[in-house]
Amino acid sequence: MGAITIDRLTKEFGDTTAVEDLSIAIEDGEFLVLVGPSGCGKSTTLRCLAGLETPTSGDVYIAEDHMNYRVPQNRDIAMVFQDYALYPHMTVRENMRFGLEEEAGYTAAEREERVEEIAAMLSIEELLDRKPEELSGGQQQRVALGRAIVRDPEVFLMDEPLSNLDAKLRAEMRTELQQLQEQFGVTTVYVTHNQTEAMTMSDRIAVMNDGQLQQVGRPLELYHAPANRFVAGFIGEPSMNFIHGRVERGTFLGRFVEYPFDSGIREAVDGVENVVLGVRPEDIGLEPADRHAGPPRDHEFPMEVTVVEPHGDQNVVHLNHPEDTAAEELLHALTGGTDIFEAGQSVVATLDPDDVHVFDAESGEALH
Ligand code: ATP
Repeated sequence: MGAITIDRLTKEFGDTTAVEDLSIAIEDGEFLVLVGPSGCGKSTTLRCLAGLETPTSGDVYIAEDHMNYRVPQNRDIAMVFQDYALYPHMTVRENMRFGLEEEAGYTAAEREERVEEIAAMLSIEELLDRKPEELSGGQQQRVALGRAIVRDPEVFLMDEPLSNLDAKLRAEMRTELQQLQEQFGVTTVYVTHNQTEAMTMSDRIAVMNDGQLQQVGRPLELYHAPANRFVAGFIGEPSMNFIHGRVERGTFLGRFVEYPFDSGIREAVDGVENVVLGVRPEDIGLEPADRHAGPPRDHEFPMEVTVVEPHGDQNVVHLNHPEDTAAEELLHALTGGTDIFEAGQSVVATLDPDDVHVFDAESGEALH
């Protein structure tokens, strides 16, 4: 079936190593999202799967067949890219049928039937006799998908297929694509730099940076247990807070933050001097200082609100230490939309030890 194995894949372009020693095993029927910042090697990986690039070293297998030197047409894959590349002189029907022309074993009537069946699934039956120029961006995207689906391939390869759409349509298509993928059960590798897309659509996410795989796992695994600081900062919106500091006798000492570690973290950081404390904005507890009973305890910090960004259902509250003259943000917290905080307000922030991540400052590896 459509399982994919990427085994120690390296792709160099002259002096640039676009992908370095990448290994991922993708299960049959799985939806894997490759995510990472611009230039991290996502598209190159996908292009090696598609047969548009030849690996410098390493191997690519689809359904256990070695693919390195096989031309794209013989890989039983369908690709959907950012620019839909529909044929402008052909109608939607012809564009979709075109994907089937090279497939053996279909009569003309069967081709027609298949096109209409897929068009119905994508709700584009009414568009079948239009030309691409007579379609909206979202409709063009559906046709591009339809053209890929009619061929009933072993594998879908998608490179930022939704990035030309506006935010609302993108959200709709995200759900639709995911439902279609589930319905067809076709192994899908989907490239995006958008972590929301990665989190919401995938069975598993592979995070890349600088040509290298950082971590692969289920979305919530990456969210709760990032392997390193890069993944921690990339997954989650708004992004994780990081505070640099050092460990002295089991206590973290950072700028305006003195944080006694509990025994679990103490063990994990044993022997490491410089660390980075990570805490997600949604894990920070905030309370107005005038409602706080008694002086701040361990894991509680007096802070001052610098800016509040309302997002309707939630607010991002930017915080600093009241004595910090550098006026640099120390933390940002996410609160419910009805929790009203305002600039200049004194608050107490709580960083629960269960929610705190600790990274080695040098290697970036997660220690806890
Ligand atoms: P983006 O999100 O911007 O599309 P990406 O993660 O998909 O980025 P790639 O397109 O795979 O990244 O590129 C990885 C690296 O390889 C980049 O440094 C890029 O400049 C380089 N690269 C890609 N294709 C070529 C090429 N044909 N010739 C030379 N360098 C290339």
